Amino acid sequence: MLDIMDLHTHTLASGHAYNTLYELAQTASKRGVTLLGCSDHGPAMPGSCHFWHFKNFKVIPRTVFGVKIMMGAELNITDYEGSVDMDQELLESLDYSIASLHTHVLKAALPFRTPTPAWEPLKIQPSIL
Ligand SMILES: [Zn+2]
Repeated sequence: MLDIMDLHTHTLASGHAYNTLYELAQTASKRGVTLLGCSDHGPAMPGSCHFWHFKNFKVIPRTVFGVKIMMGAELNITDYEGSVDMDQELLESLDYSIASLHTHVLKAALPFRTPTPAWEPLKIQPSIL
């Protein structure tokens, strides 16, 4: 199978990944990936990106090593109602976004709540945390 896109990637700006955007694009190019999305973590993730990281995406070239680049975010779901850690205006300035449940973000926001059915997939596959 040939992967033609990868939309869930993190750069060293996320605080727990170790490559630059250019290194990711270079590897994507070598592997035949034609669309690379950068989805660094939203600000609620400890050590991750702040507001200006996302606000300054206009300076990023949209093609690197022949790979089309989309700049987005992996949002943190911060409560049981589906709120995320980015305001609407900034969210709309991104090329795209994905959202995930990260236990340490959710536990920090709501330490005394009982888990809801939204947690069930995480119990089955804890590695997605
Ligand atoms: Zn991720």
